[in-house]
This record gives sequence, C-alpha cells and structure tokens, in this order.
Amino acid sequence: MQLHNAAADVFIPDGTEQAAALARTTHLCITAHQDDIEIMAYHGIAACFGRKDLWFTGVVVTNGAGSPRSGIYGDYTDEEMQRVRLREQRKAAYVGEYAAQIQLAFPSSAVKNPNETAVVDDLKQILLATRPQYVYLHNLADKHDTHIGVSLRSIAALRAVAGEVKPKKVYGCEVWRDLDWLSDEEKQVLPVSSRSNIAAALVGVFDSQVTGGKRYDLATAGRRLAHATYYASHGTDQESALTYAMDLTPLVEDPGLSIADYVLGFVDRFRADVARRLR
Ligand SMILES: [Zn+2]
Repeated sequence: MQLHNAAADVFIPDGTEQAAALARTTHLCITAHQDDIEIMAYHGIAACFGRKDLWFTGVVVTNGAGSPRSGIYGDYTDEEMQRVRLREQRKAAYVGEYAAQIQLAFPSSAVKNPNETAVVDDLKQILLATRPQYVYLHNLADKHDTHIGVSLRSIAALRAVAGEVKPKKVYGCEVWRDLDWLSDEEKQVLPVSSRSNIAAALVGVFDSQVTGGKRYDLATAGRRLAHATYYASHGTDQESALTYAMDLTPLVEDPGLSIADYVLGFVDRFRADVARRLR
C-alpha cells in the first residue's frame, strides 16, 4: 500500500509481514479517532480475539490533532499529543490482538471535505488489501461531523471497490449518539458480553482521554449494560452487554441509493412509531 501521508502508521502486533497480516482480515473497522474503534466495534474485536481463522483490523483516519489534554499531558504540544494518541491506539491493538492497526494521519478538515480524494484513495487500498466480510463504521445519525465525514468517505470507497470487495454486512455503530431510538426490528443487536476484562482494558489504555476528564471507560460499559437491560421489557436478559448498529449494507450493495434518504427513513419510522402510540 502507498498511503498518502508520510505520518501514516501501520502496526502489526504479532509481527506478521504486512500484506499477509492485512489479507487475513475478516472484520474491518474504520473510524475517525483513536479510541472510537474500542468504544463502538468491540463486537468485531471479541469475535476475532484468540482465533486463528478470524482477524480484526482497525483503521483510524485522523491524526489526533487538537485532542483535549490535562494532568501529565497538560503541557504537551500538539505534536507530542498526536504521538501519545498514536501510541495509545497501538497499545489497544496489542491488547485486542488485532491483525493490524492502520492510522492514516489526516487532519479532520480533509475528512470532512467531500472533494478530497486522498482519504477515499487510502481507504480503497485498505479495502482491497483486507477484503473484509464485516465492516464497522460510524452510524450516519452520529452528531460528530468528523465521524459522519469518515463514514461518507468509507461508503464512497466501498462503492468504488464493490466489484472486488463484497462484505456480508456493514454496520453503523454508536459513539456520539446511541441507537436506542431505532425500531427493534431494524436494530442490528450486537452482543458484547464476552471478556469484559478485555473490553475494559481496550478503552482503559486511552489514558490521555480518560485522564483528560472524560470517563469513556465507565460510560462505554454503562451504555452496553443499559442496552442489555432495556432492550426488551419482557423476559430475562440473555446478555449483560449489547451495542446497537444501523445496517448500512444496502448503501454499499446499491450505489444508486441516496444516503440521506436511506438514513432519514429510519428517522421517519421512529417518528411514525411515536405518533402511533400517542393516538
Ligand atoms: Zn471520535
């Protein structure tokens, strides 16, 4: 792969040669920031953990510039902070036994620019090198514009290589806005109860963010528990932790499908459900 940025980083925790490391990928996650993968795609990480036949690869598109900092990180320059965040993401890849961790080092502005082709080009190369069966993206009702930008660029890349890369499922996952509001029939319900120790460690290694005053470790575990408890009002809980996803597969299988119409369809059906119960 010829990635666009000189600062791009490809880390292979078990030292396998790069092409082989990427080619073994079955589950691929593409996110905006360091720690998004561990918050939203533990389902894929857990599916592959300790397996010889299933492998998880993570992609972080931005460079971590402008991250909040406090405590021991308080006087770090932006460059030093970017190095901290890159290292933390590598730690997570090691703990999670990923096939590979790719960090593309784009500024957020490039991700949000629909005319920028470098992001899509890098993602196309990664998709061709990994040919995943399952893809995890940010959901398209997220409230962080960089998350939406990464998902839109990812869908463009998936559509561009659709002849060669055919994932069975493309999930849009939860970070900045959860998906409890999706109707139950449309929720992609992803069980994440296994190895709560590894799940906790994966979010916990991002010390610069948690110490920075955001308890993502507790909040992520709390959201998963809340979903498991509130998913169904009848019956006992089969799972102690769930995450939800929006099914984005139709957007990849049908490149003519309007992304806005598709996503707003979920919102319309939510509105209709609320209206029906009030009548
Ligand atoms: Zn993020």
